[in-house]
Amino acid sequence: MTKNPQQPEVNIGLVGHVDHGKTTLVQALSGSWTDQHSEEMKRGISIRLGYADATFRQIPGVDAPECYTVEEETEDGEETEVRRTVSFVDAPGHETLMATMLSGAAIMDGAILLVSATEDVPQAQTAEHLMALDIIGIENIVIAQNKVDLVDRERALDNYEQIKEFVEGTVAEDAPIVPISAQQEVNLDLLIEAIEEEIPTPDRDETEDSRMFVARSFDINRPGTTWDGLMGGVIGGSVVAGKLEEGDELELRPGREVDEEGQTEWRSITTEVRSLQAGGNMVDEVRPGGLCGVGTGLDPSFTKGDALAGQVAGEPGTLPPTREQFTMDVELLDRVVGGEEDEGIDEISTGEPLMLTVGTATTVGAVTSARSGEAEVSLKRPVCAAEGAKIAINRRVGARWRLIGIGTLK
Ligand code: GDP
Ligand code: MG
Repeated sequence: MTKNPQQPEVNIGLVGHVDHGKTTLVQALSGSWTDQHSEEMKRGISIRLGYADATFRQIPGVDAPECYTVEEETEDGEETEVRRTVSFVDAPGHETLMATMLSGAAIMDGAILLVSATEDVPQAQTAEHLMALDIIGIENIVIAQNKVDLVDRERALDNYEQIKEFVEGTVAEDAPIVPISAQQEVNLDLLIEAIEEEIPTPDRDETEDSRMFVARSFDINRPGTTWDGLMGGVIGGSVVAGKLEEGDELELRPGREVDEEGQTEWRSITTEVRSLQAGGNMVDEVRPGGLCGVGTGLDPSFTKGDALAGQVAGEPGTLPPTREQFTMDVELLDRVVGGEEDEGIDEISTGEPLMLTVGTATTVGAVTSARSGEAEVSLKRPVCAAEGAKIAINRRVGARWRLIGIGTLK
């Protein structure tokens, strides 16, 4: 990852249909290729979001929007001024990975909706992702009309009108639409200007209890490392409240499943913060915003292969409860997003399995009781979540999970 001069202070999601250019845009703005974190969902639980940091800069003495750049120097060798460092969360576009997209949405402060000018609007995941932004309540949105290098003026204008019509009445209704070519790096200055205006860094209170959503976890040791060279487990994700400092005690929930005399139960894990990484640098503290890596004192076998993805970390004793079942208020969508025109949504029924995304956790639950507007679920794998948490509800339709509604934890 390229070094950034300061810590990222805001998370920006990249959403939109597959192949519309999300990864290419992240690369153009950050110089890193997020696909190195492969976008697959394993075991129905872990999530793998690509992410990369970028620093927006400006050329001194030049007017907006031409002043905006990600380059450290101009072509004439003049140094540019740092504005702020941001983190991009690159959501995979494939429809079966909707849950991954929603997990990412939990840590997004704003989003760029990529729409290719070469196709009719909306494509399936363009609609699905916009709906998700609506549901999760992400209102700071910039629309990037990408691949304008591939169409003529008339086609671009026509596509622009289609986008306008499509977002009417949605959370993106007033979002600016910026024509760009991510691949040819055209109009990136205009795009940065729109991001700077539409996706401000949220106000944060550093004195709150620290809270981190874990999106990934790793064992960073090479195979065959001997015990004296072993590094502790690493967790990656986003601090959403308070701040983390080197040396802090850390509790993780739900933690791990322990088996004692035939009884299994989930117990939180405690450890300490041994090292912190943000913006590609080692740092002493991490504040909310941006994605970070936390080196812990945990046995790396606990953190291997995203084993702790979806967990919540924070100051011991301050975390929300671990829940193996819960009741939620349910609001069903009018129809299956991205489905056939007339695919309505039936009420949730007792006994049916649902895939639920809560924060960065995705788990499968069986409905133990369902009434209109409310459902009680029993989870295969528990989640750590506070009352009022938003839950994305997915139902199995044919061969895949489809988003059918949004829950609020009671
Ligand atoms: P993603 O699935 O949304 O992440 O899309 P990618 O970034 O992987 O892009 C899909 C394909 O479109 C790749 O072959 C890119 O090189 C190409 N592409 C992306 N942006 C542009 C663009 O602005 N112009 C052109 N001509 N091709 C683009
Ligand atoms: Mg991609």
